[in-house]
Amino acid sequence: MNLSGVVRLRASEAGAVFSCPSMLTARTEGSIIDIENEFAEVGSCVHAVAKVIVQQNLPLPPDLDPFLFEFGLTDKRDEIGYLSWQVCQTWAKMKKYFTDSPEVEQQLESFIERDGYTVQLRGRGDVFDVIRGKNTVYVLDWKSGILTDEKAHLPQLMIYGYLAMDAIDWDPEITKVSIILAWVREGETTHKVFPVEAFKPWMDEKLSRVESWPDNKFNPTKRCSYCHRWPCEGREDMAQSGIRMFLPAADGTDIIERQPSGYPANPEQMFKAYMQWKLIKNIGEQWEKQLRIDLKKFGTMEGEFGSIGLVDVKGRMALNARKTIPIIQKDFGVTDEEILDATSLSKKGIMTAIRGHNPEGVSKKDFEQHAEAVLLEATAAKRNPGYSRIITKQA
Ligand code: SF4
Repeated sequence: MNLSGVVRLRASEAGAVFSCPSMLTARTEGSIIDIENEFAEVGSCVHAVAKVIVQQNLPLPPDLDPFLFEFGLTDKRDEIGYLSWQVCQTWAKMKKYFTDSPEVEQQLESFIERDGYTVQLRGRGDVFDVIRGKNTVYVLDWKSGILTDEKAHLPQLMIYGYLAMDAIDWDPEITKVSIILAWVREGETTHKVFPVEAFKPWMDEKLSRVESWPDNKFNPTKRCSYCHRWPCEGREDMAQSGIRMFLPAADGTDIIERQPSGYPANPEQMFKAYMQWKLIKNIGEQWEKQLRIDLKKFGTMEGEFGSIGLVDVKGRMALNARKTIPIIQKDFGVTDEEILDATSLSKKGIMTAIRGHNPEGVSKKDFEQHAEAVLLEATAAKRNPGYSRIITKQA
């Protein structure tokens, strides 16, 4: 892989980058996909609250109003309140590892010189401390997302370790780095201790792999949802195979008729109806994502339906539905009813309807298992960007 100049690598994205190094070239080629999302905003807000909790050693969350206003999350008071309370609980258990005044939100940065380019490693130690009596550096990272497999986080942990040691100039007195991932949603922690000798060889091996990664080789996975590269051949290939698997179930050629309730009259068509709904919803989301990218580049855009720009809705920049829905209808041939479907069905609703229409002779357990499997497939399809875009191309 041809790398030159300074290549930025954040600890939080290391797992994704080492799994598909082509992510790195997205920063210099093609469009950049906008991956900001509401979960990230919730995470930033919880981190800001956690900083105060640790600095002031608070047993209960502080007044949340200033944080909710600052991050435009006044509608998420309950969620932020719950997560902040969990931070207090976790900090009460974890503070024994730290001194009375640990570094909080320490921005860590290292530069690694490679042949022909420099890697700029960055990460934020939410709580960071050097405990000389134990020859150990401690790093705590608040996680506001859903608890995931530990293996998926190993690259992030190793980079934290590398950054922590570099921050203290690889002090020979320090022999271990202890990293705590605090999953505040679940109230759980993952605690790992690494010997300091582990970091440099690990980093060298990973960077060598990136360097020998062939140009235009892709390893599409669910992480594509968070990748800045757009368009991407790898993602589109994955989408194509997804289409071959899902299209017969979705059967977009024959839109299923619905009752006024939104559900199909024939319960056996429930799965197909659900798949169609997902596809239509996905088309809208992908289209909106691309439009946001274009708007960022060009400010506003002039079209047949007037000029489109982002508007301020309760402090968030959003698309103006009155202008964008007619375009989505025109570009994708989506009807009013289909748009209504895309906003009126929900997983909960469809599962309730499925349970109410259990066909004779099929055990409830088998039927529900089948329904869950189809819903999972539909969800996987939705998480696969590019999926609906290609369906649209093929239609
Ligand atoms: S979109 Fe997926 S396949 Fe393409 S570069 Fe990103 S991670 Fe790799």
